[in-house]
This record gives sequence, structure tokens and C-alpha cells, in this order.
Amino acid sequence: MIWPLFVNCWVPANDPRTGCTVRLHGPVNDRSKIRNKIRNDVDLGSKNTLGLPCIADYFCASADEDELAGAIAWARENKLPVLVLGEGSNLVLPARLNALVLQLTMTGYVVRSAEPDIVDVAAGNDWHQLVTELLAAGWYGLENLALIPGTVGAAPVQNIGAYGVEIERFVHSVRVFDMHTLRWLDMPRADCEFRYRHSIFRQHPQRFMITRVRLRLSRRMQVNDTYGALREELERRGIGQASATQVYDAVVHIRRQKLPDPRLEANVGSFFKNPVVSQLHYELLRQQYPGLVAYPQGADVKLAAGWLIEQAGFKGKSSNGVCMHPRQALVLVNQSGASASDVLAYADSVVAKVESLFGVVLQREPVLVSSDGFCSAA
Ligand SMILES: Cc1cc2nc3c(=O)[nH]c(=O)nc-3n(C[C@H](O)[C@H](O)[C@H](O)COP(=O)(O)OP(=O)(O)OC[C@H]3O[C@@H](n4cnc5c(N)ncnc54)[C@H](O)[C@@H]3O)c2cc1C
Repeated sequence: MIWPLFVNCWVPANDPRTGCTVRLHGPVNDRSKIRNKIRNDVDLGSKNTLGLPCIADYFCASADEDELAGAIAWARENKLPVLVLGEGSNLVLPARLNALVLQLTMTGYVVRSAEPDIVDVAAGNDWHQLVTELLAAGWYGLENLALIPGTVGAAPVQNIGAYGVEIERFVHSVRVFDMHTLRWLDMPRADCEFRYRHSIFRQHPQRFMITRVRLRLSRRMQVNDTYGALREELERRGIGQASATQVYDAVVHIRRQKLPDPRLEANVGSFFKNPVVSQLHYELLRQQYPGLVAYPQGADVKLAAGWLIEQAGFKGKSSNGVCMHPRQALVLVNQSGASASDVLAYADSVVAKVESLFGVVLQREPVLVSSDGFCSAA
């Protein structure tokens, strides 16, 4: 249960539009208090869904924005990189991580009577739980994004998307702490540079800590049920004009059928993005491979990376405890105690074979973290 919060709003305290209580966020001067909250040598093995063994040199979990900002200032003083960790469902972690890892534990959401379609959501909420509760409370739009693992704070980072919908459509603004300037900002959607699996936050993975996401949702049901696999499932259920709840149920059902549960088979969902190629490149490939699975993407064409990987012979092929899933070739699975280097060596072999066959270079979807704490996002 996510309890609606009526504190921690970031509007000015005297804003006449709202009646909500406001905490102001000043600089934290008490460094010793912050240092006491930072733990050493914390095991992140159970905090990443790929199940990679990882020990973080420094770790701090907090629901308090001042404390988090203070911890970042402490890391800066100590010349340490900072990694903001959500549920670790889109990360490849090293065995040893020389960084300060921050976990944001604030939950809840805020709705103001003056703007009933805007829901301010705290970064530490579980995304799927939020989707479920907002739907039950009569806010519509997010149902296509049900069952995507992870936190609310991470959702704008790669502009999560599924079944024809991406979160960018609902983002009004994002509250961030800029770790370069040590200042709080409210970034409107236009400044977030959202694209397919991309945003300014992914572009600069260690610059912004997202503490809240403001979503503009509809109180009127506006259902998006045209995406191929979703429509097929609805038709199989005999549903013509679907309700938001029916879309939610169908999406949850499809995902449970299609994707391995990371609690049972360690994975980070799609390991590669679907590559986008020119129309000419697509036509040439299709002549050679008539079964090629592809979708229009503006003037270009998006290829199904899972199909390319399957054709390259990696579906279910295991090496050093790693394989592409036997039912879903786009999902890389850590079968038994693989390390980050095992995972990356396997992924490199997939990329090389797909490139040699199709002339397409696959890009990794999860963020890669190096042992000196730096993130690289393709
Ligand atoms: C089974 C499975 C299915 C998936 N399906 C989909 C899908 O359909 N669509 C999709 O888009 N993704 C999908 N994913 C990927 C993943 O769920 C999303 O990327 C999710 O948003 C990651 O959330 P997280 O909290 O686990 O982030 P993490 O993995 O912990 O972090 C990912 C990145 O976000 C950064 N980050 C995390 N929190 C914050 C914050 N508060 N502020 C700033 N940066 C932050 C991290 O530093 C890191 O760079 C799937 C993953 C799995 C395991």
C-alpha cells in the first residue's frame, strides 16, 4: 500500500494554490551526522536483479532530501563518484564498487486539489505498485506500463516504455538534485530530452539524482490498446473496446507469460535495445531474411533485436553461466553465479555475431558500472 503523502511538496510554502505542508531544503552542515549514516562494505548482491556479486565501499539509504544532498557533498569532498541505486533492475555491477551508493527510500505521492490531474510521486516508490494503486484510485494512462520492475525515480532515466507507451507522455516535471552544481531543480518535461530508452538523465548518468516525478494523468479513461501483442491478447479475451483495467490485466498476463521473473531467473529484462536502421538497410536485409521482424519508426525501421539474436544462434545457448533466455532471446540470464565479466564477454559475442550477419551493432540497454564507480550507458 502506497500512502498518499501531504508533505515534502516542492512548491513555495506560501503558494496560495495549495494547502500542503512544505519542508524547505537547506544545505546540511552536520557532516558527522551524515557520515554516521554511511555504511562501509555493503553487499549489493541481493540489490541487483542480475544477481551479480558486488560490494560497495560506501552505501547510504535515506528518505530525507537534505541527508541525501549532504551525502553527495560528502562524496564530493572525498572525491568519490556517486551511484544512485533503485531496484538494480537495469544495472551491470562490478565485483567491487569504489563509490558512494545512494538508495532513495522516500515513498508516497501528493495530489493537490488545485491540480487534480497532477500526481507528485516520490522516487522510492515501486513502479508497478504505483501503477496498480493509481489505477485503482481512478488515474488513467499508466496501465500499459504495468509490471515493469524498478523504482519511480529510475523510470524517467531510460524513459521506460512498453506496449506502445513511454513514460515521457505523462511526465510533467522531475525534481532533481544536480550533483555538479549541488542545487535542486524542477526540470520540465521539455528539458528531459526524452527519446526511445533515453533521457538527459541517462546521457549524464552521474549528474542528477531524481527525488520526485510529477505525472500528469487523466481522470477520464483514455485507453491505448492498439499495440499488436496487446490487441491480440484483448481479442483472445473477446474484448473489443477495452477498459483501463482490462488493458492492465492483459499487460500483466502477457508479461508474466513472456518474461522470466527476475526473482527466479536473474535478469535485467531486455539486454539490448531494438536497433533502428534506414529503410534501405531494412529492404536489403529483408531480401536476404524474409522473416525479419521489424516495425516502422518514423522514416526509419526498428528491428526486433530478439529475432536477430535468435537467428544468430544465441537463444538458449549457455556459456560460463550466462545465456540468452530459451523463450525470450532478448533477455540475458545469469544462470549460475556469473560475474560481470562473464556477462559482458557473452554480450560481446552476441554483438559481434549479429553485426557480422546483419551489419547491425546492438547497443546494451542496462547501465554498466565500472569498479571505479563510473557508469556508462549506451
Ligand atoms: C524482467 C524485466 C523486465 C523489464 N521490462 C522493461 C520494459 O518493459 N521497459 C523498460 O523500459 N524497461 C524494462 N526493464 C528495465 C528496468 O525495469 C527499468 O529500466 C527500470 O526503470 C529500472 O529501475 P530500477 O529502480 O531498478 O533502476 P536501477 O537499475 O537501480 O538503475 C538504473 C539507472 O537509473 C539510475 N537511477 C536509479 N534511480 C535513480 C534516481 N532516483 N535518480 C537518478 N538516477 C537514478 C541508476 O543510477 C542507473 O543509472 C525491465 C527489467 C526487468 C528485470
